[in-house]
Amino acid sequence: MKGFVFDIQKFALHDGPGIRTTVFLKGCELRCQWCCNPESQLQPPQLAFDVKKCTHCFECIESCRYGALKKAENKLSVDFEKCTGCGDCVSHCAPGALKIFGYETDAHSVIKEVAKDKAYFGNSGGGITLSGGDPVFQPEFAFDLLQVAKENGIHTCIETSGHCKPEIIAKLATVTDLFLFDFKHYKNADHVKFTGVPNDILLANLDFLCRNNHKVILRCPIIPGVNDSLEHFKAIAELSKKYDSIQMVEVMPFHDWGFHKYELLGMKRPDIDSSTIPKETAAKWRDGLKKLGCTKIKI
Ligand code: SF4
Ligand code: SF4
Repeated sequence: MKGFVFDIQKFALHDGPGIRTTVFLKGCELRCQWCCNPESQLQPPQLAFDVKKCTHCFECIESCRYGALKKAENKLSVDFEKCTGCGDCVSHCAPGALKIFGYETDAHSVIKEVAKDKAYFGNSGGGITLSGGDPVFQPEFAFDLLQVAKENGIHTCIETSGHCKPEIIAKLATVTDLFLFDFKHYKNADHVKFTGVPNDILLANLDFLCRNNHKVILRCPIIPGVNDSLEHFKAIAELSKKYDSIQMVEVMPFHDWGFHKYELLGMKRPDIDSSTIPKETAAKWRDGLKKLGCTKIKI
């Protein structure tokens, strides 16, 4: 089974327990307005153009069979509508201004790479984490990756929105040791407004996982003006109390570290307040959750 990956990060310390290798899969049905991995949203490989690295040599123009590269006012102009993501131009760009995000690979090749760090996993309680994008967007590939990881004795985590058909989550649960499950907005209408999809499907999938005793860490991105409301914090606290399977609640303050990538990819930058959240504000959110009876907060 082949699938599309855009990054493999080793020695990850924030994607589940222990030292982990995080494999980022391309493709996601959601369009969260605070998304920091825009290169993950579409499944096919995507071209990125970094104008700051471009020396205006125009060596790349002839390499594009699709007419996506042109000289305009003595600068390189990229027509992302015409670009197919074939990557032919990349090798013609010596300064590295052109780059392709994403490549096709297979589960055995990925796990062979991941398994190189097995000694670190064993000593720290770590393993592999599938992230994205959302791994449920490529369900067969995600299943193969996790199954091959388990055959190799590697602990498996998956980070997901949970927005998928119930049979997908049920199948993935057979090869997943721990779910890092996102909870973005308690209110269905606002979930649609800010992510593009409703929250009923993912809440049903969370319910399925918890009722069947699958281990879950509830990950809660908190974005000022979107979901930093008392009602949302109450909903987080209620979920944490309702399900014993939820082992921990992670409050994840918004950051805009990946927003520069929108421009590189020819995508529109999110129209959202990108000020850095002070540590005190995040601490206040965690305290507030504790007061609401949530005892599982990761500090
Ligand atoms: S080859 Fe690279 S440096 Fe030269 S014009 Fe194209 S993108 Fe810019
Ligand atoms: S990735 Fe392919 S289609 Fe896109 S600009 Fe480069 S050569 Fe053209």
